[in-house]
Amino acid sequence: MIEERKIIQSLITFLEGEKMGGVLEIFSPSLKKEFSVLFSSLALKTLSQSVYRCQRCALAQSRRQCVFGEGAPNALILFVGEAPGEEEDKQGKPFVGSAGILLTRAIEAIGLKREEVYITNVLKCRPPHNRNPLPQEIANCFPYLEEQIRIIQPRIICALGKFAAHALLSTSSSISQLRGKIYSYQGIKLLPTFHPAYLLRNPQGKIPFWEDMKRLKRELQKLL
Ligand code: SF4
Repeated sequence: MIEERKIIQSLITFLEGEKMGGVLEIFSPSLKKEFSVLFSSLALKTLSQSVYRCQRCALAQSRRQCVFGEGAPNALILFVGEAPGEEEDKQGKPFVGSAGILLTRAIEAIGLKREEVYITNVLKCRPPHNRNPLPQEIANCFPYLEEQIRIIQPRIICALGKFAAHALLSTSSSISQLRGKIYSYQGIKLLPTFHPAYLLRNPQGKIPFWEDMKRLKRELQKLL
């Protein structure tokens, strides 16, 4: 509630500033951009409240808390992982711990800061003992990810690991086969690559992973 008030107050303050500059300025590109960010923030906040109350699957009973996602509400790049792990479940944030450090390094390597992208998972609750997500759990939770994508409208989605790639591309091909190529998810470019947690256990995947990050950087540069 406090967060919504802060967002609405920012909107009012911004509009008051714009009015001082003249009515025509109301449709300036900067205003449209500011509006877009504020409305996305509000929409994500509203959606997160539904997720925090969600009881659609049994993971609601075992989770400490939901991990909705975090980042820029109008990010150009959306990173989608598999599910929260133990540390994420404790902190309520996606990709913290060792895998998060590796993802943050990758984001910085493509020339962005962590807070300039959006990071989330296919599942918003931790499966017990970090077991793989079940198909029914993915089916139950996927509409939240679809809604996040609709709100954020990223230009590129980076699917981290096979569960994210399979859910978004409706395929069962291995991540080794899928990685490194550009696909389309509802008109948005989608690049699958290895999950950072997989790389910590399988260092041989790091070279192709960094090749994928170079590809991601090239795709990003086309947008700037
Ligand atoms: S994993 Fe998703 S569908 Fe299941 S309880 Fe959590 S938010 Fe709801």
